[in-house]
Amino acid sequence: MSRPIVFVDLDDTLFQTRAKCPPDAPEDALTLAARATNGAHSLMTRRQKAFVDWLIATGETIPVTARSREAYSRVAIPFASFAIVSNGAVILDAAGVPDTGWAEVMARDLGAHEETLAALLAQGRAAAETAGIDARSWIVAEETVSTYAVFKQNDGDGTRLPEIADALATTFDLAGWTVHHNGNNLGLLPPALSKRRAVAHLLERLRADAPDRPSLGFGDSLTDLPFLAACDFWGVPARSQLARALDGGSPPHGGGS
Ligand SMILES: [Mg+2]
Repeated sequence: MSRPIVFVDLDDTLFQTRAKCPPDAPEDALTLAARATNGAHSLMTRRQKAFVDWLIATGETIPVTARSREAYSRVAIPFASFAIVSNGAVILDAAGVPDTGWAEVMARDLGAHEETLAALLAQGRAAAETAGIDARSWIVAEETVSTYAVFKQNDGDGTRLPEIADALATTFDLAGWTVHHNGNNLGLLPPALSKRRAVAHLLERLRADAPDRPSLGFGDSLTDLPFLAACDFWGVPARSQLARALDGGSPPHGGGS
């Protein structure tokens, strides 16, 4: 049998913070999935845990996450293959060692956007202050490479983050950039960076000697769609941003998971 290759987003796909878990779920029904430095750990429901166990037992399951290498190291799920972290900037092998060839490609391509990223961060902070939005922000760096910029509200659910993105779009030409907004998370990704690019790279490599292996993708965000579309089959969690958009329900910029 050709073993399936499964590319799976992590946060809000396989697990979520306690606040986003079903409110009636008893504590002993939730399994720790990722430790947080601020105490807001991420948890799996029993169904999510069963799904994860099945994925890992059945397929070659590869996380595809915006988490940095450091934040990924706090994920407690025993993945046993590659991992794509920092939105595709880093590919780790099963032992957690970065692919040096990929790192060189990314350092070269992302280096071209380093100054723009720094300027975006500064102007985004200024825009937040002008609009009276209490936000924290940083650039996710891997080794010395700037990968993407993040903004989060300190005292809200992220509904005001599009104001920052809109302000930046008036000053910067963001053509080719990915503006990711889902819940309390605004990410600004340079054109060189995408989960899809890293997924396509790994798919080609894994299929070099086994072209018939089917690929599956799972993700919750609108910005996961490009990497999902690179797979033969894909799925989204119920009540996710993507599910709402496909369902014709809430507008894409709705808050939540
Ligand atoms: Mg997600």
